[in-house]
Amino acid sequence: MANCLEDHGYEAWAVGGAVRDHLLGLERGDWDLATNARPDQVMELFSRTVPLGMEHGTVGVLDPDGTLFEVTTFRRDVETDGRHAVVEFADSIDEDLARRDFTINAIAWRERTGELRDPWNGRADLAAGILRAVGDAAARFAEDYLRVFRGLRFAGAYDLTFDPPTREALEAAVSGLDRLSAERVREELVKVLAAPTPSAALRLYRDSGALGVWYPELERHANDAGWDEALATIDELNARDGLLRLCRLLLVIPTEQHDESSEDPGESAAAGLLARLKFSKADQRRVLHLYSHFLPFVSPVDSSADLREWLSSIGPGTERDLFRMHFAAARAAGAEDELNALVFVWRRVHEERLSGAPIERGDLVVNGTDILDLGIEPGPLVRLLLEELHARVLEDPELNTREVLLQQARELIEMAGLEGPASDPEAE
Ligand code: ATP
Ligand code: MG
Repeated sequence: MANCLEDHGYEAWAVGGAVRDHLLGLERGDWDLATNARPDQVMELFSRTVPLGMEHGTVGVLDPDGTLFEVTTFRRDVETDGRHAVVEFADSIDEDLARRDFTINAIAWRERTGELRDPWNGRADLAAGILRAVGDAAARFAEDYLRVFRGLRFAGAYDLTFDPPTREALEAAVSGLDRLSAERVREELVKVLAAPTPSAALRLYRDSGALGVWYPELERHANDAGWDEALATIDELNARDGLLRLCRLLLVIPTEQHDESSEDPGESAAAGLLARLKFSKADQRRVLHLYSHFLPFVSPVDSSADLREWLSSIGPGTERDLFRMHFAAARAAGAEDELNALVFVWRRVHEERLSGAPIERGDLVVNGTDILDLGIEPGPLVRLLLEELHARVLEDPELNTREVLLQQARELIEMAGLEGPASDPEAE
């Protein structure tokens, strides 16, 4: 890949996160290359290319072995406004490195010559555990405020200490964060949540004040006892399921579930945050569903009927994620007994799910049409009747035969009839 560029007379420099992580002894699969070849020249040299962002000079190149490289022509900034930059192509790797955000990200390595370009002494900072802006920190943040979030992420992920002027400039730049687009802020959060242990970066989000700008709902609870518990639990959750970690983060907002009919204030705060960050509708649905069903949870002393009722209340395909979150919380707390209890109750829940016992409303052997056939008017009573039959079947799966359920429906209709046609037989 780099060889091919070099063989055609171009410079090929590995840059960015791959070099940084390599110097730290961390292995990773993606390499970003910087080159003096222009995008069209890169496209010409390789057969399998994707124009990832020609206006920024980035071409994706698929290696013969299937690795995707991002090859970007040397650039310099012409104009910046705090959220995007107008760039032009540059001639040297040094110019290209000068527009990068932090010294640890501004190191380049040229395989062909073995040369390491490190004009900003990023290696020394990396060794000393220091995060330092390239050049004038205040100016660098003002060019692109996303660097504030990036800085917090890198400091958290690599356990770096801010160089004092960088720290000062970062805190002053927090007020500019509102100018960023939701998409970039979201992608930053997603990267934080994909790190092995997001807690450090999230704590820095809070301590720097950055949390309050984009996540005021979280900031309101960032000094609650639940905050540290949430962060420790997030670290225990699988890094590959960022949405589950996100859900656990949102759960610092108390769910405050009073009853089923009133809209849950916690849920609407969580929903507001997800919408502001422009998560996809599907992601919003999944996270909110888990958020709102996190509690109440099952316990080892619950009856089988309780477990089925719980399964029915959370809906299909949900219990595994909920258990994951509760397991992670117990691990974070080092609570061995709690873990054992969770394993025990999970096994029982799993057995209920597989037992074939009716759980979802759709598992009932009668439906709305059957109820209408009993001669009642279409209306809310039909749904109430089915809900009552469903509750009874969850209690006792043996009742789930047409004969029994239709008989019970008739009796309920009769009772309702005595109290007037529109009343709910179980309301009192
Ligand atoms: P990772 O991929 O692990 O998140 P990374 O350092 O590779 O970290 P990328 O976003 O992939 O981060 O960017 C690659 C490189 O591009 C960075 O190392 C940095 O040199 C530069 N860079 C990326 N975003 C910015 C930015 N907003 N301002 C300045 N330089 C940036
Ligand atoms: Mg990268």
